[in-house]
Formats: sequence, structure tokens, C-alpha cells
Amino acid sequence: MNPSEMRATALALYPEDTLEAATLLKQAVPLMVRHNIPANPVQYALWYTYSKGQEPELNRHLDRLVKDFDCFPPESAAKLFREYIIRDELEDARIGQQQAIKLVDGMERDVSRSVKGNLNFQVSLGHCMEMLEAPDDNSLPTILNELQQSAQVMQDQQALFLYQLRAAQNEIKTLRDKLEEASLAAMLDGLTQVFNRATFNRLLEQALNNAPDGLALIMLDIDHFKQFNDQYGHPLGDRVLQHVGQVLRNLLPPHATAARYGGEEFCVILKGCADLESVHAFAEQLRVKIQSLRIRARSSEKMLDTITASFGIALFEVGDNLETLLTRADDALYQAKRSGRNQVHR
Ligand code: GH3
Ligand code: MG
Ligand code: MG
Repeated sequence: MNPSEMRATALALYPEDTLEAATLLKQAVPLMVRHNIPANPVQYALWYTYSKGQEPELNRHLDRLVKDFDCFPPESAAKLFREYIIRDELEDARIGQQQAIKLVDGMERDVSRSVKGNLNFQVSLGHCMEMLEAPDDNSLPTILNELQQSAQVMQDQQALFLYQLRAAQNEIKTLRDKLEEASLAAMLDGLTQVFNRATFNRLLEQALNNAPDGLALIMLDIDHFKQFNDQYGHPLGDRVLQHVGQVLRNLLPPHATAARYGGEEFCVILKGCADLESVHAFAEQLRVKIQSLRIRARSSEKMLDTITASFGIALFEVGDNLETLLTRADDALYQAKRSGRNQVHR
């Protein structure tokens, strides 16, 4: 990865082109002036993101803060910056990024050393040219010798540079892999390997921004799971959750996202989907697949009781926000439970 690609990765948070960025900044600065916000990088980042409008929760926090305080508390700004801009959970990724920056700094040093070597060679060359213009009898071997020596020095420096460059490239690749792993791990639920709730909320907010293209939500909850835990113990309960996570991951169509919403509750976001019948059919497919899971206790050959889940589905309607859409899916899920479980309701 070269330094500009590295910068690109760091700036993935801000994919806007210069024109868009300038427009957003033009919106952000008057807001800061109006609310008497101190002009510092933390505040610029917050109000720039505010103008983008992709973090509704951040916008609500900022609206509340400017309403409640004459003077924007700096510790609140720092907290929001950590939560919404650099994201605390990516601590590992941040350390990785710092290491990568150090590496690039080191490479820059090596490049300048190599450039210096080239310059020295040029000086030697100039010197030799001068000597050649007015050669005396013994000058030729001296000139050749000097040229050969400085060429050797340059070659050595370039070989060293190449070696260091390759080592740095390998290290950067390892760091990049670790960074990606860390960022992904921070977004996933450790037990089931589907997205965690924080990520789900963020993805649903984002999906709501494009909701006019269609958006559906499926909420599912494992039936009588408390009883299952009581009968077979928590470790087996955990395995059931892992299996359900796997069913979701395996059956997800493109543009769909699955997340563990809470204990034994999962959600699926279906983007670009405006047809309740096809959502129902997909939820039904998930229901049947979960019901057909055959889980064996590790300690014995005994097959565990059949697992079932109840489903609530909801389609985006104009005026919906995260809460209203979730509430409709949750209400439908409640109906599915009340009607006898192991079924899909809308
Ligand atoms: P219902 O059909 O109405 O959903 O009944 P339920 O028993 O599934 O619902 P309830 O909300 O009463 O219980 C949920 C249970 O899920 C209780 C809790 O022990 C279990 N649970 C939540 N998180 C985990 C987990 O991470 N691992 C395990 N093994 N169990 C969990
Ligand atoms: Mg539940
Ligand atoms: Mg349950």
C-alpha cells in the first residue's frame, strides 16, 4: 500500500469529492458561527458530519447540546468525537493505523536517504566532468576511480532502500489485514458472527436514508428459549444461537444484512425490497430452515428438541424512522408469539 492509498483508507470515512466536501463545509461553518462553537478540528469534524446527516443520533446529540448550553462543553465534544468520528471500539484499528503511519514515516526517511545518495553521485559526476575538461596525464585513473566509488555508494544505498521497501510493504500488508480484521470484529457479534446491535442500528439508519428504493425489516425471536436453556444448559443454548446465526448468514440474499439484536433475537434488513409477499416468503424460508436444524448434544448421541422461532416483518412506509419501523416489526413478532409461535406475522 503506498502512502496515498493509506491516506485513502484513513479517509474512507469521508468519501466525498472536493466539491461535495466544500458544500458540506459551507453548511457546517455558518452553523458553528450561529451556535458560537469554538473553531477547532474536533468541532469541524462534528459539524461536518452533522451537515452530512448520516449519523442522526449524532445530530440529535448536537441539537440538544446547543439548545441546553450557552457554551458548548468541550468534554461533550470530545466524547461525541470519539463515539461518532473515530469510534472507540476500533482501538485496535487505531493502534494499527498509528503503526502504519510510523512505517510510512520510516519509508520517507529511507527515500530521502536514497535521493541524497543520488545527489552525491551527481556532485561526483559534475566534479569528474570538470576534471575531464582539463585533464592532466594522471587524471584519468583518478577520475574513473572516483566515479566508480560514488556509483558503488549509490548502488549500495539503493539496494538497502529496496530491501527496506520490501520489508515495509510486507509489514504494511500484515497491518492492513489486522486493521480489516479488527474493524470487522468490532462490528460483529462474537458468538454468532452476524452484526452486533450497534452496527445494526447504524446500518438501519443508513438504509433508511435510501428507503424510498424499498426497505424491509424482519425480526425473529427463538421460541421458549428460556425453557431450552433450563433443560439443556446455557452452553447448548449458545450453540443454538450460533446455528441460527449460520442459517441467517447462509440464506441471506445480496443487499441483506443480519444482526443479533439482543439475547435470542435477530434482525434482517432487506434493502431495495418493497414487496411484502417476497419478504414473507423469505422469512418463511428462514423459519423452515431453523425448524429443520438438528442439533446433537456433544456428550451423547441424543438429538435435542426442535428449535423454532417466531417472525415479525415490516415494510418501510413514508415517514418511518428507526423506532417506528422497529416497533412495527416487533408488534408483528408479538402477534406471531400470541398466535402460537413458529410462524411469520406482518
Ligand atoms: P418466547 O417464546 O416468548 O420468546 O420465550 P423465551 O423463553 O424465548 O423468551 P424469554 O424472553 O422469556 O427468554 C429469553 C431467554 O434467552 C432467556 C435467556 O436465558 C436466553 N438468552 C439470552 N441470551 C442468551 C445467550 O447469549 N445464551 C444463551 N444460552 N441464552 C440466552
Ligand atoms: Mg426474546
Ligand atoms: Mg424467545
